[in-house]
Amino acid sequence: MRILITNDDGVYSPGIAALAHVASRFGETRIVAPDVEMSSASSSISASRPLTYKRTRLPFEVPGVEAYRVNGTPGDCVGVGTCVWKNVDLVLSGINLGTNLGNAIWHSGTLAGAKQAALLGLRGIAFSAPATDTEEPNFETLKISVAAVLEMLLPLTELRLVNVNLPASAPRGIVWTRQSVRQYDGKVVPGRDPMGRTHYWYTVVPIQATDEGSDRWALEQGYASITPLRVDLTDDAALEHAKERAEPRKVRLA
Ligand code: MN
Repeated sequence: MRILITNDDGVYSPGIAALAHVASRFGETRIVAPDVEMSSASSSISASRPLTYKRTRLPFEVPGVEAYRVNGTPGDCVGVGTCVWKNVDLVLSGINLGTNLGNAIWHSGTLAGAKQAALLGLRGIAFSAPATDTEEPNFETLKISVAAVLEMLLPLTELRLVNVNLPASAPRGIVWTRQSVRQYDGKVVPGRDPMGRTHYWYTVVPIQATDEGSDRWALEQGYASITPLRVDLTDDAALEHAKERAEPRKVRLA
């Protein structure tokens, strides 16, 4: 099995080395990741300029795994990586320094790496874990969780796109979850720069209540959360309802 590893924190993040280290036990592994941080880049691709693909040395060397940096997004890395390195079966993205729960996955570059794999007809699994500005996660603990999740997921080949969130410490268990969609935690906050000019920053607001069985709930309870996702965003119920409410109609040009 050929496993391509990407992320959105950049190729030099310790999280990607931890993920590649575990992945190399499951198959032939290569790292292809953005040369700079691309967090919240979502599924954007660099369609209006050429991309480069360059061998690089990592601060956390992974035995037997080559690493390449691309001057693009996670989606670009999967596109270029699978163009250069043929017959990739699986794309793993992460381990992101920060969770990707609920509606945050709309912005997530980590999930986008896995999503690009699904768009190309491959399997994609995204891994994220809590991190703060002052404290990095314990990667040795996370590696044990990643291995346990991969052992659980890899035989389930019908799951094409999966979002995994790991607690910072050893999980109580691994549970199947839904994406939490009740609340959105993104908010723009105005502020002032040192010159007195007004600027605006995105921030995250705390979420008050979590719905049981959701990804956010699982993490709060100390579980590792696995959410199977799909690329098809069609709202089936809304489509059926719309069809009942309004017949398809012709448009007459005057
Ligand atoms: Mn990130």
